[in-house]
Amino acid sequence: PPGGGGGGEDCCVKVAVHVRPLIADEKAQGCKDCVTVVPGKPQVQIGTHSFTFDHVYGSTGSPSTAMFEECVAPLVDGLFQGYNATVLAYGQTGSGKTYTMGTGFKESYQAGIVPQVMSVLFGKIETLKHQTEFQLHVSFIEILKEEVRDLLDPSCLHKAESPNGHAGKVNVPGKPPIQIRESSNGVITLAGSTEVSVGSLKEMAAYLEQGSLSRATGSTNMNNQSSRSHAIFTITLEQMQKINSLSTGDGSQNDGMNDEYLCAKLHLVDLAGSERAKRTGSDGLRFKEGIHINKGLLALGNVISALGDEKKRKEGLHVPYRDSKLTRLLQDSLGGNSRTCMIACISPADINAEETLNTLKYANRAR
Ligand code: ADP
Ligand code: MG
Repeated sequence: PPGGGGGGEDCCVKVAVHVRPLIADEKAQGCKDCVTVVPGKPQVQIGTHSFTFDHVYGSTGSPSTAMFEECVAPLVDGLFQGYNATVLAYGQTGSGKTYTMGTGFKESYQAGIVPQVMSVLFGKIETLKHQTEFQLHVSFIEILKEEVRDLLDPSCLHKAESPNGHAGKVNVPGKPPIQIRESSNGVITLAGSTEVSVGSLKEMAAYLEQGSLSRATGSTNMNNQSSRSHAIFTITLEQMQKINSLSTGDGSQNDGMNDEYLCAKLHLVDLAGSERAKRTGSDGLRFKEGIHINKGLLALGNVISALGDEKKRKEGLHVPYRDSKLTRLLQDSLGGNSRTCMIACISPADINAEETLNTLKYANRAR
């Protein structure tokens, strides 16, 4: 049986599949459902192909609760123990990535992953705050064509609203581009991006909404651009044990741990659409028609595959983090002691069968 068993240590990458229901548009086109979730097993079938993952969530029942509990809640718990973590939503445009992450701010987004992360996070802080001091920060960026953009930059927000500006997220002249830096102890930081301190769930939700809005309104061709970019919402949790809580503990001695400090971050990533899109010149440039594969997705697949390969890991295999901005940015939160969950989102419609199969193959490679 998949998901554990095996005798080996837990792999640091878990892969789940989320099958959305047929949407109205697909029904109107007369699409048929071509994806089968095998009852009682984390297995999906399409045509003659069958794939097994750590978890599979079908379109019946209430997948959001189970998905959160099984895939994401352990990562939030890990944050409080100092472990970095990453949640990735992968899939073709329209497969339900934004719905799954809960960053669309329409319909029932509260059932999505990010809103649930926020409520669990603040709930835990509430129960622990008598003994621990907490500091929370968030940042929200997107990576488009190997360029990092700050979705919380106030000047970008202003530009997006200006009546004569075409695009809101053109880099402000004179403002240095955001750079990904690695410290000597391997910690990745983003130099030049906005990192805001948040004190409440309401505040954090407001930044999430502001950034999501900035991502959607800032581009000339909304659907096109936002489906080609990776959006990364990062929550950083710092904690410091309160001295008095340790010295008044039930017999547990103060053994020099009274200034214990932990810092960990959680990246919540809505990846670019995985479809092998034909490039069209939406930005005024003419591209030769051809197959374009997103550099970040390609590198991510290679990194996750390398991490999951026990044998290669033991041989000290080089994990190709440096091949894209996405993997570079996530470097200290993918592999090592950190925990990763990739959720592959798929449409059940027969017209999407080819891309669905591609998604399942990509996800399968990540296991
Ligand atoms: P993506 O972000 O991958 O492009 P979306 O999240 O925007 O896809 O989803 C595409 C459409 O499908 C939206 O109208 C969304 O509301 C709907 N949808 C996605 N997942 C589900 C789901 N699990 N249940 C119902 N509707 C869904
Ligand atoms: Mg989306």
